[in-house]
Amino acid sequence: NPETFLPIPLTMNASSVQTQSPLAPAVLADVRHDLYIDGQWRSATSGRRIDVVDPSTEALIASVPDATVEDAAAAVDAAANAAVGWRATAPRRRSEILRRCFELMTQRAESLATLISLENGKALRDARGEVAYAAEFFRWNAEEAVRLSGEFGTAPSGTNRIIVDYEPVGICVLITPWNFPAAMATRKIAPALAAGCTVILKPASETPLTAYALAALYEEAGVPPGVVNVLTTSAPGPLTAAMLADRRVRKLSFTGSTGVGRTLLAEAAKHVVSCSMELGGNAPFIVFDDADLEAALDGAMIAKMRNAGEACTAANRIYAQSGIHDAFARGLARRMAAVRVGSGVEAETECGPMITRRAVQKIDRLVQDAVRRGAQVLCGAEAHDGPGYFYRPTVLTNVPRDAEMAHEEIFGPVAPISRFDTEGEAIELANDTEYGLAAYVYTRDLARGLRVCGRIESGMIALNRGLVSDPAAPFGGVKQSGLGREGGQRHGVAEFMEAKYIATSL
Ligand code: NAD
Repeated sequence: NPETFLPIPLTMNASSVQTQSPLAPAVLADVRHDLYIDGQWRSATSGRRIDVVDPSTEALIASVPDATVEDAAAAVDAAANAAVGWRATAPRRRSEILRRCFELMTQRAESLATLISLENGKALRDARGEVAYAAEFFRWNAEEAVRLSGEFGTAPSGTNRIIVDYEPVGICVLITPWNFPAAMATRKIAPALAAGCTVILKPASETPLTAYALAALYEEAGVPPGVVNVLTTSAPGPLTAAMLADRRVRKLSFTGSTGVGRTLLAEAAKHVVSCSMELGGNAPFIVFDDADLEAALDGAMIAKMRNAGEACTAANRIYAQSGIHDAFARGLARRMAAVRVGSGVEAETECGPMITRRAVQKIDRLVQDAVRRGAQVLCGAEAHDGPGYFYRPTVLTNVPRDAEMAHEEIFGPVAPISRFDTEGEAIELANDTEYGLAAYVYTRDLARGLRVCGRIESGMIALNRGLVSDPAAPFGGVKQSGLGREGGQRHGVAEFMEAKYIATSL
């Protein structure tokens, strides 16, 4: 009976959140903080800058230029000027440059991870994982770049030949969120460059430094000026609208919230610009009675706590079958309460801060709402006084179906558990959301596992695993979670290509 669970004491040590990494000053000093346009580092025409804050300490760590519509136009000009040469560059040469990006990222993994941790707050161990994942998109797409091929055949009428060639879609605007500052950018840039496109990247203002550090690295790897341009702005709406209105821009690839995605789709529709959308999630995590309990707990910790829960694939609703529910809830509470919370760059930290104070307030609002509706707190359920934007790892049980967190992304270290009885009920609960990005299923019965996977409305499902992302697999969602796929065999690169059909007589 969940009511008999005792709240478990917490281990968070407020004094730990102040520690700074010895690498941090050097890493910050190394990053160019200016717009990267046409291979040049320049200030914004406005002269204004945007502050970048370390979410572990709330200290100002840098500032980046606040680009204007004129700067965005310069970036489109640069991408357009570079497009002809890059498209004509031999696939083998493009592949070698992408491979060099992978090698440089791998060599500099530790300083890149420190930078990610500083501006995003995530634990260094998560940041190292992100760098490895992000670099892999360059290696994978270096291999894709030389395998792109078309089709050639005789028409059924026997009167003509059909030749299909695949061409780069053109100039691409790429917009990325703050939760994976390296990987969300490389998951777009690497396939775009493999396809022969030139790009303008607008990273999130909360985490712009990683994008600029990577821009310098691409240049060193041999990416020609203008092929990748990076700009930061506090006015993403007007800048994006201006870029989409430029007839030379042919593609928008966006990762972020569903709300902003909808706005951008409407903007792109005005100019019929091709769109790929990686949007929000609300992943169900289903544990059947016959699951391996320890494996399910291991998986839940990864699916919930990777990136402190700030992941679009994070387990947002945990459904445990009645027979395993109590043991699972107790086990998860024990593990969550033992998580070491602290500054991202501190070696022992397992869970860093949230990105902003607003994010903490949202998490707290969702937790209080669930409790008001009858959920029980097994551990956590409170914010930390600061400095830093910390929220204690939290486990809730008896979370009712109408709780706001059952329908909204929590984006934090909060695991809401609900009970179910039958397989049909689990599927019905899992699908009771407008989202369809990731899902997790734990059962020892393979036939049931595959049956349930077949009925869950989701772009990606992990069966007896807590991690779903893989550069070699197509990442993306259905329903309100988006349009298109990133990564995977041909899927990712295909988003940046157009088919061209040529008819010839026999
Ligand atoms: P967000 O939508 O607020 O911002 C994402 C990016 O869009 C940022 O660069 C932001 O500056 C920019 N932006 C904001 N308003 C804009 C506008 N009007 N025009 C153009 N650009 C605009 O999202 P966020 O808070 O940065 O990221 C969290 C969200 O991203 C969550 O919903 C999460 O699920 C989602 N996400 C999805 C995936 C995926 O692959 N599906 C991956 C990571 C994050």
